[in-house]
Amino acid sequence: MSALLLDGKKLAAIVRDEVKAGVAAFRDKHGRVPGLEVILVGDDAASVVYTRNKEKASNEVGMRGKLHTLPASSTELEITALVAALNADPAVDGILVQLPLPSAIAAPDVLDRIDPTKDVDGLHPANAGLLLLGRGNPLVACTPLGCMRLLELAETNLKGAHAVVVGRSAMVGKPMAQLLLGAHATVTMAHSRTRDLPAVCRTADVLIAAVGKAELIRGDWIKPGATVIDVGINRVAVEGGRDKLVGDVAFDEAVEVARAITPVPGGVGPMTIAMLLANTLRAAERRASAPFRR
Ligand code: NDP
Repeated sequence: MSALLLDGKKLAAIVRDEVKAGVAAFRDKHGRVPGLEVILVGDDAASVVYTRNKEKASNEVGMRGKLHTLPASSTELEITALVAALNADPAVDGILVQLPLPSAIAAPDVLDRIDPTKDVDGLHPANAGLLLLGRGNPLVACTPLGCMRLLELAETNLKGAHAVVVGRSAMVGKPMAQLLLGAHATVTMAHSRTRDLPAVCRTADVLIAAVGKAELIRGDWIKPGATVIDVGINRVAVEGGRDKLVGDVAFDEAVEVARAITPVPGGVGPMTIAMLLANTLRAAERRASAPFRR
């Protein structure tokens, strides 16, 4: 039986429409539109595309999106000076530093300088810490937020379900596990040192793959009836010298076993940008209602 396909493109369009309406209401109430500033350091080809898309998407929903491109030779001081200027600018609601940064720059030293109320990537320790503690109302990383919306779409009952998150990065795996815990799932986190990963995956009612290894997770690793969210984006060569994008899950095999599954492309990817817009609107609304709260 073929699984229900979780269409991230369609869901992202719905989220963008919600944000667009929210932006219009914000403008009517506060006389300005939310502002998202994206900082790109260097000219990594994928990052150039991602950051342009973020700038474009924010403008499309009526926000003020702006991309700052700094040379790869920029010093930490130059990057953090820009972050400080954006922190101080009341018209700026969201600041995103595109990762990876050039290897000479320690990413945490830059990310930790972002005002937590403007940290729309949810990577500041203040936001990540609140998420871990299950306290307050932190800004949460966009990709895991998008995965939660896709799980809602799948009508997956998370309460008491066993969720396995493969990958433990600060950007995806860790916040994903916290969100699932918050939704009362029983969560197992797997990673590169996990013993017998196929057996661990086979116990998952909900399987989240955030690894970065093309088609690592095979169809016979999946429990029949499971919901599968594939975060991975991997470029692989195909015949004729071209390449294509595949996920961390062998889709053609998994689609025959799972109850619901995200495709790659067109699953989690579009949701990540949509949730960035949602986070920026949220940050703007919170800052407007409590401008002095950190
Ligand atoms: P990282 O490289 O930061 O983390 C990868 C994780 O996978 C690590 O925890 C690593 O374990 C684990 N891992 C690596 N190899 C294996 C293995 N053989 N078995 C089990 N676990 C393994 O990646 P990200 O979290 O940033 O991204 C993961 C994937 O998601 C990538 O393909 C990325 O492109 C994609 N991505 C997609 C987004 C989207 O919008 N769709 C957004 C962000 C990421 P260990 O910690 O032990 O090293």
